[in-house]
Amino acid sequence: MDMGANIVLGAIADDFTGATDLANNLVRGGMRCLQVIGVPSEEVDLNNIDAVVVALKSRSCPADKAVADSLAALEWLRQQGARQLFFKYCSTFDSTDQGNIGPVADALLEALGANQTVMVPAFPINGRMVYQGHLFVGDRLLNDSGMQHHPLNPMQDADLVRVLARQTPHSVGLANRAVLTQGADVTRAHLSALAEQGTRHVICDSLDEQDLDVLAQATVLMPLVTGGSGLGQALPAQYRAQGWLDTISEPGRLLPAFGGALVLSGSCSRTTLAQVADFLAKHPDGGFALDPLALAEGEQQQQQALNFAQQRLSNNEPVLMYASADPDKVKTAQASLGVKRAGYLVEEALSQLAVTLVNEGVGRLLVAGGETSGAVVSALGITRLRIGEQIDPGVPWTQAPLPNREAPLSLALKSGNFGGVDFFTRAFEVLA
Ligand code: ADP
Repeated sequence: MDMGANIVLGAIADDFTGATDLANNLVRGGMRCLQVIGVPSEEVDLNNIDAVVVALKSRSCPADKAVADSLAALEWLRQQGARQLFFKYCSTFDSTDQGNIGPVADALLEALGANQTVMVPAFPINGRMVYQGHLFVGDRLLNDSGMQHHPLNPMQDADLVRVLARQTPHSVGLANRAVLTQGADVTRAHLSALAEQGTRHVICDSLDEQDLDVLAQATVLMPLVTGGSGLGQALPAQYRAQGWLDTISEPGRLLPAFGGALVLSGSCSRTTLAQVADFLAKHPDGGFALDPLALAEGEQQQQQALNFAQQRLSNNEPVLMYASADPDKVKTAQASLGVKRAGYLVEEALSQLAVTLVNEGVGRLLVAGGETSGAVVSALGITRLRIGEQIDPGVPWTQAPLPNREAPLSLALKSGNFGGVDFFTRAFEVLA
């Protein structure tokens, strides 16, 4: 079981792209990081790895399942020797009155025998800030940011002390900015005083990187911290100060990438549509549009897409296969096929293309879309990702071992709203 290497940080992330976002910031902070998809059932080689992020799908599932999955991840991470545990959720505190942030944090604390944790969702460079316990997205309060309309977890209250208090029987406190500006010692004393009063959860303000540095310094010895990926970038420096972590010159260094370059896009976000248009402007003959209505009619379009891609790849040219379409087109397909079936046809087509083309030698793969990424990764049988250099905020290159190939696959998974307009071309330049 033990591969001889103890990790410093073990993180449990409540969704897939959120896990990558945290892993990316840990690398930027100076840790060599591995992301695993679900709790590993086999031995994982953790030599030369400082942090592991376990990606769960526990954000929107029933609370008892989220708790069970998180406890299983905790157990596995403790077996790997993790000195500190990190429960990662979204910087917009995505949850409902039923959970899952409160129930999961309570269960983890209990399992660790710990009496307190902090809640640090802020991610200042992405505009997520907390002041007096109130979460802002840019210049809007959370409940006025668009998040009040979220289909699964509408956030209708920006006061996180109140939000969390509805999810836990334990008392919820606040460490506000007036405390943080007095430094790490004062902040630590404030947390201890709250702990003595029995306050298990402490919502923490943070407006900038400096606040996150103070919080990282004040909480480095806590068994469990919780929050967004912002805190993840501040913690590694504290691990070095504790002597737990060496200075690593290139924590995001991966093996050289090679093989054909393929982009698969199933995201229809505004950002992705602009990235598709940008790629097509640079490579006018480089894209193939998939249409769920055509895919529903049989194998023909799928076969055409494959031929197209094979032709381009054999000429050593990058290729983009996309179902990305504007809202009108998406609506037309959904009206005719149903939302689920339209999405399924696209995910299935892109996944099959990925499997065939990677088998035939594609070595550098970009996938756009959170759901799309999940489908492609699972079709490829990928369970682990070594995290490399950042391409754009929140999106790193990664490398994944493949079940039936010796060389790893270089892979970048982009959730819809991430990445600059030239992402589909620049990502490959970064790699070179
Ligand atoms: P994002 O990260 O932008 O939300 P996702 O991949 O998570 O992207 O979600 C996009 C969903 O839309 C996927 O289920 C995908 O299969 C579906 N989809 C993509 N293209 C089309 C289309 N042309 N018509 C209908 N649904 C589509």
